[in-house]
Amino acid sequence: MKKDTVLIGAGRTPEENHGVVNPPVYHASTITYPSLAALEETSRKRFDAGVTYYGRYGTPTHFSLERAVAAVEGGDRAVLCGSGKAALVAALTAFVKRHDHLLMVDTAYAPTRTFCDGFLARFGVETTYYDPLIGAGIGELIRPETKLVFIESPGSETFEVQDLPAIAKAAHAKGCIVMCDNTWASPLYCDPFALGADVSIQAATKYIAGHSDAMLGVITTRAEQHRVVRAAAYDLGASAGPDDVYLALRGMRTLRVRLERHWKTGLALAEWLKARPEVTRVMHPALPNDPGHALWQRDFSGASGLFGLVLKPGPKKALAAMLDGMCLFAMGYSWGGYESLIVPTHPAAHRTASAWSDEGQNLRIHAGLEDVEDLIADLEASLVRYDAAR
Ligand SMILES: *Cc1c(COP(=O)(O)O)cnc(C)c1O
Repeated sequence: MKKDTVLIGAGRTPEENHGVVNPPVYHASTITYPSLAALEETSRKRFDAGVTYYGRYGTPTHFSLERAVAAVEGGDRAVLCGSGKAALVAALTAFVKRHDHLLMVDTAYAPTRTFCDGFLARFGVETTYYDPLIGAGIGELIRPETKLVFIESPGSETFEVQDLPAIAKAAHAKGCIVMCDNTWASPLYCDPFALGADVSIQAATKYIAGHSDAMLGVITTRAEQHRVVRAAAYDLGASAGPDDVYLALRGMRTLRVRLERHWKTGLALAEWLKARPEVTRVMHPALPNDPGHALWQRDFSGASGLFGLVLKPGPKKALAAMLDGMCLFAMGYSWGGYESLIVPTHPAAHRTASAWSDEGQNLRIHAGLEDVEDLIADLEASLVRYDAAR
């Protein structure tokens, strides 16, 4: 079946629930057992698919979303966590131990770096950052103690597209796990498992939930990696609340129609911005002249609404004049909801293995579901304010 069909049916079992279309929200800590034998049997199977043992292991509401995300993303099994960051932490810690080494893309989501440089370093795991454009060259950085290669494509803030198949091939040749943060593409626009990944992470807070009202992470794996990831998430106590799980299940059913609009509007804004005299650069892999365009065309089936741009240099007061007066674009972190957002970014501040030489003001835009002409009018007025205050 095609993804659009899977998206609608995956994880739903109305026949087990009086015919009701959506699964119920199970609020649970204690699960009770009718006999000692049942208690012991469930205890033995507690990491198996669909076994409800104690609230922290998940409930049928959780298992429904886990099945749905795994089916759409093309993996075998999924594990939910209470946020995208919790999913990153659980997935990374599942595969490394003291004295191990991991390779992390230089353009990773900044809190992923923070976790590697702080927590993992304190526990004796070394991280080397690599250039997002390294491709098959990753092989030269792999040491005997390297356990994991982490990909995030396109890159956070600067949107470089990575050659996932080439990296995965070189990493697998040396026995490493290939993990990717697939949040930008969502499970719809990139099939990380078909491209060679073993583990894929979604900040479901973003497009899967899609309405800026829930925090959730999902780790999807091939069957072989499932148990170790579930055990790590369990050890960290990284469980998700059932109401947020329900919101993500509900949001996911409309993922395709929302994403098509985010893509179309985002690309229209990117094209419009590219032609503006105040803008020196637009980073959006769906733009035909973007350096990542060919890889994006090969490996992705669409683009989300998140992209970057660089303005001509200007003082802080010009940036404040621009951003403080916006009517439709709100300033705020996170993204993936129905509303448009804009934030200043500082790519050079969190990269160490690849240069970011653009001077000027970097910004990140999330194109929401508003009318595109209204969004352009808001951006146009903001650029006029920026230029006037420069
Ligand atoms: C937001 C985000 C995360 C973290 O998700 P939270 O749910 O906010 O913890 C991880 N990776 C990427 C690429 C993100 O954009």
